[in-house]
Amino acid sequence: MAFEQIKLDYDFDALEPHIDEATMKVHYGKHHAGYTSKLNNAIKGTDLEGKSIEEILKNLDMDNAAVRNNGGGYYNHNLYFETMSPNGGGNPSGDLAKAIDETFGSFDKFKEEFSNAAKTRFGSGWAWLAVQENGKLAVCSTPNQDNPLMPGANCGTPILGIDVWEHAYYLKYQNRRPDYVEAFFSVVDWDVVAKKYEEAK
Ligand code: MN
Repeated sequence: MAFEQIKLDYDFDALEPHIDEATMKVHYGKHHAGYTSKLNNAIKGTDLEGKSIEEILKNLDMDNAAVRNNGGGYYNHNLYFETMSPNGGGNPSGDLAKAIDETFGSFDKFKEEFSNAAKTRFGSGWAWLAVQENGKLAVCSTPNQDNPLMPGANCGTPILGIDVWEHAYYLKYQNRRPDYVEAFFSVVDWDVVAKKYEEAK
């Protein structure tokens, strides 16, 4: 079965004013749709067809540019759009909040580390909150559409990711990536992130 984009349970304008409608339309409707169809084309008729996206990324031949770029783009954007919500923002609670405090010292310190990873990623890429194999949390960043699951990334299973490609923020924020990163925290759905934490740890 071909890969499909996750369905959004909010409207394109629902994340305003933090993430604008025009960006959402082109980001989900064009960029993410493009990665998805190109991934499907790249694996059609190969031994990757029928495997889960996690399985494909974990065992990826990093020289396979079509699957690396489009498989990463497919997975990364599913996570990104799934972990945003018009009802998001605030702080995590429960076990995830405890784990963040234990690893980073406090939620504010985690936010600072994650934001720095996002702001200092040169060019296009992503910053991540991930669960390592030992169950501990980590912040990391990857270039382009690379992903923490890919060979050599050494970061763990991602549970939250921010897209810092210019297409994710330029229409509204132009060169002000730090303002976009700050705004992202107003729409993070910590309940979804907490569920992903429970599954990954
Ligand atoms: Mn993107």
